[in-house]
Amino acid sequence: MAEQRDAALLLRSIAYSDSSLILHCLTKQHGRISLMARGARRAKSPFRAALMPLYTLQLRWKEPRTGSMGTLLEAQRLSPLLPESKILAGQALLAKASILFPDGVHAGFEELWHALHILSRRPEDSGLMAATWNMMQTAGWVADFEHCWYCSKHIVLNQTMFWRQAHLLCELCARQQGMKISPGCRKSLHTHLTQTNTRLTKSYIQIWESMIQAVFQQHQTNKS
Ligand SMILES: [Zn+2]
Repeated sequence: MAEQRDAALLLRSIAYSDSSLILHCLTKQHGRISLMARGARRAKSPFRAALMPLYTLQLRWKEPRTGSMGTLLEAQRLSPLLPESKILAGQALLAKASILFPDGVHAGFEELWHALHILSRRPEDSGLMAATWNMMQTAGWVADFEHCWYCSKHIVLNQTMFWRQAHLLCELCARQQGMKISPGCRKSLHTHLTQTNTRLTKSYIQIWESMIQAVFQQHQTNKS
């Protein structure tokens, strides 16, 4: 069977039998793939040191004869993508990426790589929100902060908008229902996506976190 090589980001690894791992990866050219890493949990396995999340990996694998799981042949660990202090936030971001880019979706590698870059360059308390939001936006789950997501009208940043049923709405579409998003809040979140040198207040971070949660919840409900 054909051999493949690609740059990859490890989303998660699951223990399999007594010594192996099943890997879920986003690759640059091949989209999301799963691979069997035989013996990867043995102390002397060369895979052991290489298979780390939050690093760029270079993988070589054999395509499966049947089914969808390839076999890992070689793994190389390249540069780390986050400083030590942001590893926890990085792991939370991987969990979100795994939901945003499920099996069968070809995208994900560039999106996650870019989101990790955003996370590495934002303050610790707000970086995860900015990175997650950016990834949600490239996956088409959310739109921007300058338009009503129902009527598409451009809403200048000094107007109040509303967060209702996981959508950002203008005053007319919201009909006074939902959570008010003040001009200050919206401007801050909008700016935080593109500028590294700003800080968010605690309450804006909390609002952003609840918005992100609501969008994920809505997608879960739609799926089931
Ligand atoms: Zn509207």
